[in-house]
Amino acid sequence: MTKTDIRTQTIAELQKSFATMGQPAYRAKQVFDWMWKLGAKGFDDMSNVPAALRQELSDRFTFESIILDVRQNSADGTVKSRYKLHDGYKIETVMIPVPEDRRSTACVSSQVGCSLTCSFCATGQMGRLRNLTAGEIYDQAFDTNKLSQEMLGYPLTNIVYMGMGEPLLNYGPVMESIHKITSPEGMAWSPRRITLSTAGIAKMIRRLGDEKVKFNLALSLHAADDNKRNQIMPINETNSLRSLMEALDYFYKQTGGRISFEYIALKGFNDSIEDADKLVRLCRGQFPVKVNIIEYNPVPGVPFERADESQVDRFARHVRNKDVMITVRRSRGKDIDAACGQLANQK
Ligand code: SF4
Repeated sequence: MTKTDIRTQTIAELQKSFATMGQPAYRAKQVFDWMWKLGAKGFDDMSNVPAALRQELSDRFTFESIILDVRQNSADGTVKSRYKLHDGYKIETVMIPVPEDRRSTACVSSQVGCSLTCSFCATGQMGRLRNLTAGEIYDQAFDTNKLSQEMLGYPLTNIVYMGMGEPLLNYGPVMESIHKITSPEGMAWSPRRITLSTAGIAKMIRRLGDEKVKFNLALSLHAADDNKRNQIMPINETNSLRSLMEALDYFYKQTGGRISFEYIALKGFNDSIEDADKLVRLCRGQFPVKVNIIEYNPVPGVPFERADESQVDRFARHVRNKDVMITVRRSRGKDIDAACGQLANQK
């Protein structure tokens, strides 16, 4: 008999299974709380559940959790956690603290590797090995929240789906993980503190709009014309900038959610004033948007260099002067390969 992962069960399904085992409904609730609210990593952690029942559960179900493998601390306070999955695969999660503002962000992964092969990204070089389950995504947020409390003395303030993988290509589990993070069954978070970042899949962005999601959306833009974007992000060949802007407009009209553009500055490729003008034109669409310029972190074997700081500042000033909201983000966690585009399970 193949066993089911108990974490795929709803409370109603669990109560039904417990009834067939002659167990009262409150026991199912106890086990459900251990899985989502109390951070159990397996049946043995469920200390108020009788040992015989824990044994029966492990005979019937698997419990697929993530186990911390290696944790690395950057000189700038960023922490990268590498987790081992039940089948031996590994994923990475990053915590980015900003203690002066009492802020702390978890950057979670949605897939092992990624199929989209963006040319500047280390994760893309791994290929996609498999999708993560909702539980495996949720656990990254849960564990990082605990880490923030232990290390910084306050909980996470934001969760971004910007780690390994393309979240919209693992749609069901990603949405279920957000449901658990925002539900009283789990972490009871406000969805407005969650941002899902996509490389840009127009029909899935429209689907988010149809589902009237309450979280924020970031588009990894990185180039403001199709010709350049095709060169670094193959997904653009089937999802042109025009189709993406129309989809984002639809998303905004349906949800009123916040939209941002992420833009990695690559030296001599997308950092000119002409590029800045193209970016401004894109930002003057129907929906309000904020741009985040991100410093590039070199990846071995990739022919891009970080844009000069002075050029990035000139670019940002030019965009800002045209009344577009723009922030320059100096990269965090570079010394431990935890920065944007560097997650590839390397030590
Ligand atoms: S940048 Fe994002 S979408 Fe592109 S290959 Fe890397 S992880 Fe995948």
